[in-house]
Amino acid sequence: MNSQLTAFITVICTSGVLNLYLCLFVFFKRYNYTNIANFFVLYSASITIYCFASAFYLMATTLEQIKFWTIIEYIGMPFSPPLGLMFIMQYLGIKITRKMGVFLLTIPFISLIMVATNDLHHFHYRIFEIDPALGAPYIHQEIGIWYMIHGVFTFACMFVAFLLLLSHWKETAKIYRLQIFSLICGQFLPMLTAFIYLLGLTPPGFDPVPMVLWISSLLYLWSISSSRMFTLMPIAKDTIFNSINDGVIVLDESYRLIEFNKACKSMFPKLNESLFGMDFAKIWFKLTSGDSFPLKLGNNAFTCEIELAIDHSRHIYQVRTSSLHHGNIVGSLIIFTDITELKRLQMKLEHLAYHDELTQIYNRRAFFEKCEKVFPPAKEVSLPFTIILIDIDYFKRVNDTYGHNVGDQLLKHVVSACQLQLSEDILFARYGGEEFVLALKGTVSEGETLANQLRRFIETNPLSTADEMISVTISCGVSEATFGTGETLHQLLHKADEALYSAKRAGRNQVHVHNKKVSTIMERPS
Ligand code: GH3
Ligand code: MG
Ligand code: MG
Repeated sequence: MNSQLTAFITVICTSGVLNLYLCLFVFFKRYNYTNIANFFVLYSASITIYCFASAFYLMATTLEQIKFWTIIEYIGMPFSPPLGLMFIMQYLGIKITRKMGVFLLTIPFISLIMVATNDLHHFHYRIFEIDPALGAPYIHQEIGIWYMIHGVFTFACMFVAFLLLLSHWKETAKIYRLQIFSLICGQFLPMLTAFIYLLGLTPPGFDPVPMVLWISSLLYLWSISSSRMFTLMPIAKDTIFNSINDGVIVLDESYRLIEFNKACKSMFPKLNESLFGMDFAKIWFKLTSGDSFPLKLGNNAFTCEIELAIDHSRHIYQVRTSSLHHGNIVGSLIIFTDITELKRLQMKLEHLAYHDELTQIYNRRAFFEKCEKVFPPAKEVSLPFTIILIDIDYFKRVNDTYGHNVGDQLLKHVVSACQLQLSEDILFARYGGEEFVLALKGTVSEGETLANQLRRFIETNPLSTADEMISVTISCGVSEATFGTGETLHQLLHKADEALYSAKRAGRNQVHVHNKKVSTIMERPS
């Protein structure tokens, strides 16, 4: 046997031994590698058979021996690319159906039968004889139809596995990229060698693929032993990480950016990989229009509103932060949930619940809720508190004369007129159909002055419609809370109502203040 052949055999045996080791390693630790163990064990076993059979093949001295070892070689070789493909698919979390598995293993099985029975039909090798020039173990062969099918299938499996790994490259977290790279190389190398072999560019007479399989084996061995990549299911975790709708950011112990997910990138378009390693406070400054991040790291939840630097749009986020501890590795996790729409909807609902649809001022419910908050404290410290009830005079006539639509316009007109005269600290609400209520922290005489001011303003500012000017007046009832008597808000409103009724009875377009005389003489019929 020449020394070149000895070297080939040594290299091929090394591939075999490494693969056998890998196969046994994963087999005995299969409970740790549950997700990929089955296919990986079968895959490395098939390569082991392939390698050792190739080595024995190269030691053969007769055609019979060569044929025998070729058959043994085919127990492993045609199965390894589909098994490799299934292992990669499983690793990437792609579901392998039973049908697909059966299909992928049927062709190798036929190839094995074809090689074992080749002498009968010559479908695999049309000619298979010892190379007359080089002698055993070098072979002169001419391939048959099935060899071509087998070749295309083998190559396709390796190519698909290679493409799948490449397509997952981008969505793989940086720290796992080296492992993906080693898997890509482990697939690419035999594929390239097989391709060169098929082009007839390798030394003639024997299959060179087992010669490079030791490199693939070493790459796999490194991947498995240097990291817990298979047990941690990085790809699956990566997929989850990138498929959730919340934006997730991972920081190291010095609050420097390590990782972010796809949702985070779409939330903060300025976020990119060149910012890895940068202090998060600086990154936040860049992402927002110069905001400082409310750094409440540790385990916290809070809401923050920011303006995005990219388009100056305002967003509200629910932020959850938590510390990460893994051995002595410490880091932080920040999860952003965009609640802008939710907040908008909540505010809209709140607005609808507390505002009058026609005039957009507070409704009766809002008036009572807000007043109940101010009234008891005012009572406690005996601060003056006054209520003014306003009623539009002869409003029904407006409706009857000009229609309901103009009546609505008039209601809005009265509201705008009042708003022009009122300061912000006065509570103003629609109390009923054409009745309004005001609550102010002031005395009854201040209330009376304000009510008269409103009355005069409305009287002198008619509503102008397309057709004519519609004059309107209001009547007001004013009453001040008398503290120390246990008076309730409802009683105070009742007093204002009595004063209003008194104003109506006295001829309208006037302001009446509640006093003892009014409350005893003027009882408003219910
Ligand atoms: P008074 O001077 O005694 O207050 O007479 P009035 O006509 O203003 O009072 P009345 O209580 O008889 O009529 C109030 C009318 O207001 C009856 C109702 O149809 C009308 N109204 C109530 N709410 C609305 C509204 O939202 N839009 C319009 N256009 N009319 C309304
Ligand atoms: Mg009225
Ligand atoms: Mg009324």
